[in-house]
Amino acid sequence: MPFSDLPERVAEVRGRIEAAAARGGHGQAVTLVAVTKTHGPDAVDAVVRAGVPDVGENRVQEALPKMDAVTVDARWHLIGHLQRNKVKALSRFVLLHSLDRSELADGVDGLGRAMGRTFDLLMQVNVSGEATKGGYGPAQWEAAADHLRGLTGLRVRGVMTMAPLDAHEAELRAVFAGARRAREVLRAAGHDAAMLSMGMSNDYEIAVEEGATCVRLGTVLFGARAHDR
Ligand SMILES: *Cc1c(COP(=O)(O)O)cnc(C)c1O
Repeated sequence: MPFSDLPERVAEVRGRIEAAAARGGHGQAVTLVAVTKTHGPDAVDAVVRAGVPDVGENRVQEALPKMDAVTVDARWHLIGHLQRNKVKALSRFVLLHSLDRSELADGVDGLGRAMGRTFDLLMQVNVSGEATKGGYGPAQWEAAADHLRGLTGLRVRGVMTMAPLDAHEAELRAVFAGARRAREVLRAAGHDAAMLSMGMSNDYEIAVEEGATCVRLGTVLFGARAHDR
């Protein structure tokens, strides 16, 4: 049976998250989002049955057919770059982790107002400010927080970040602390921003020590992806 060892992997990961949260001393609860990109609907079925109802996908065009094919109730998170012409798909997700530019914010806001609802999302931040990386750099945080405050079709619930893959521990901690600072900027601007989505398979214990309220894990649950995107 595929993914038959998921219950053990989930238990192991949850144990590590709990221990890291205790070491970090931030006192936060941590949501585990299972990242199922490149895996089939069977991976979603298996992980939800293993007690993880939150699943993450990074591409709308991959997620939508998977949603229709699964046999379980999952809470779908969109964790990758979203094109403005695909914002309508947000109706199928509980949370957008990757609000990475104002143009997208305006698109989500317009959809929310047209539908008479709000969409929950996280501001993706690029703590190092590298131009090649997605998300708002530190110099943009305050202005973005103010701009987003004026949009009634969305609610900014916190911050998402991705650390560089090859970073050493000190660098990881600096990135995660930077995300905490971005969350403070949002709060100071009046957002109800409690969430910190940070930590992937190779760095989630450090992220939780640094206050992550949400980790996004693929490889450590499902094994290596055959063809990454
Ligand atoms: C793929 C992906 C993950 C999960 O990565 P792993 O290293 O396999 O845990 C987390 N977040 C985002 C945004 C991703 O695209």
